[in-house]
Amino acid sequence: MKENIKNILNQQIMEEFYSAYLYLALAARLENLNFPGMANWMKLQAKEEEDHALGFFRFLIERGEEPELLAIAAPDISKIKTPVDAFAAALEHEQHVTSLIHKIQELAITEKDYALESFNRWYIDEQVEEEDNANDVLSRVKMVSNSGSGLYALDRELAKREAEESGPYAKED
Ligand code: MG
Repeated sequence: MKENIKNILNQQIMEEFYSAYLYLALAARLENLNFPGMANWMKLQAKEEEDHALGFFRFLIERGEEPELLAIAAPDISKIKTPVDAFAAALEHEQHVTSLIHKIQELAITEKDYALESFNRWYIDEQVEEEDNANDVLSRVKMVSNSGSGLYALDRELAKREAEESGPYAKED
């Protein structure tokens, strides 16, 4: 595997773990604001991000490479004061991750790494879903943001989200 490909994949393992870290930080803030259902949504999102990281991890191993674990930065949630802030941050973050996934695809194409091009397609499709999910919850949180009972009902609904395995290898095992 080419060095630049290996580097971008190691970088993406870190980015996916950073996503998990960010979602966990948002969960902590939402717990603190007394929205345990929204915190549940964020915590399950964090778990999915770990699965995404492990997808790249496994791909590197299958290609005969040893994944390198880079340092994960501390997420800054100092500006997050409301559920709208939290879900707006989630959407903005997913848009950023989409751009990273697209950069991987661009590199796979320029380096003619067809295996990576095929593998990374799962992530391209997943990002469409991730942005759609974050956007959906954000619109609903915005709709009820001035209503205590509305926020309470939405929080109860988001408490129902259940854990699901995610990642390019999820259905295979
Ligand atoms: Mg992800």
